[in-house]
Amino acid sequence: MEYRTLPHSGMKVSTIGIGSGSVHESNEKQTVELIDYAQSQGINLIDMATSYPEPWQNYGVALKGRRNQFHLQMHLGITYETGQYSRNYTLESIKRSFENQIEITGSDYADIAVFHCIDTAEDYNKLMDNGAFDYAVKLKRDGVIRNLGVATHTAEIANRFIATGEMDALMFSINAAYDLDPVANDPYGEDSKNYAGIIVSQNRQKLFQDCYRLGIGINVMKAYGGGKLLDAKTSPFGQAMSIPQCLKYALDRPSVVSCMVGVRNKQDLEDAAQLYSAADKELDYSFIMKIQSQDMRGSCVYCNHCMPCPAEIDIGQIHKFFDLYMAGDEMAKEHYYAMSKNASDCIQCGMCEGRCPFGVAIREKMRSARTALHTTSIIN
Ligand code: SF4
Ligand code: SF4
Repeated sequence: MEYRTLPHSGMKVSTIGIGSGSVHESNEKQTVELIDYAQSQGINLIDMATSYPEPWQNYGVALKGRRNQFHLQMHLGITYETGQYSRNYTLESIKRSFENQIEITGSDYADIAVFHCIDTAEDYNKLMDNGAFDYAVKLKRDGVIRNLGVATHTAEIANRFIATGEMDALMFSINAAYDLDPVANDPYGEDSKNYAGIIVSQNRQKLFQDCYRLGIGINVMKAYGGGKLLDAKTSPFGQAMSIPQCLKYALDRPSVVSCMVGVRNKQDLEDAAQLYSAADKELDYSFIMKIQSQDMRGSCVYCNHCMPCPAEIDIGQIHKFFDLYMAGDEMAKEHYYAMSKNASDCIQCGMCEGRCPFGVAIREKMRSARTALHTTSIIN
């Protein structure tokens, strides 16, 4: 097992961790098997964001007598008061939920606590204004939270949290598709829409480097792109990446300490652990850097070159949550609805499509999202 260190606390975490969004597919016995396997392999990091409340009880049983063998990443702003996952950022809810998480896991501390899925300035401001941020900082000062962080899908929100000076960890979605940015042949000429190459997005690269400089460890979510990268039919690269290639890619980014792979059961964790036995050739993902944008036509990489949108829709983010939802990520629906504008706001003007370097049929995709996630039909 390979371990990396969260610089501020010195906590050592395994480079593969357990993501729990689909772990409700395991019953209590299977959850115990999962944790037994993790312990046998030295996998010591568990993210506790689940889609339903039941896995918490199963984790409580599985971790009994060995809580201190694992580092648990808990979430501030997650709640199950309706019987399934939802978000609530009121101070009262955050306190109640956090205390409950601590109690179920039979301990009096969180190794890591992250503000859960903050993707908009509105949610950021809410936490800052209602006392929730100060509450978490106090818990850190008191030693109840050993590392404080935020889980977000956007670099802009990550930067805001980092600017507070209180962040020790960042949970961020990283994979080869999310990182890519098309490069214009001649960015200043008339031919600027004629994209050819692909590079790693500079604002994401800067975020990773800033985290490295400031000693903020990154825990990765969505390393497989919700499974999209593992299948040639859905991969934007036209060919599948393997699990070890996806994990290696994420672990190669500056400041990344661990990949929290979403698991349903022990088998999924075993599949991720192939990373450690893969030969160098099997880990080589360089083929993605040789792909030209014209070879990727039709598949969204969430780069937002199609913006601005007159309806103020964050097109890349809406596509990302919709793709994750279609791949079976139950939490993605909630994240989709949390966006201030979504597919139901699309007026089908088509202005975005001429700006997309990858020829994505954006209007059609907005209609599909509307059909899948809303009750009324979109303007045709
Ligand atoms: S539709 Fe095209 S330009 Fe817009 S986010 Fe997706 S790939 Fe990027
Ligand atoms: S077609 Fe929809 S998503 Fe595209 S620019 Fe127009 S309103 Fe925005």
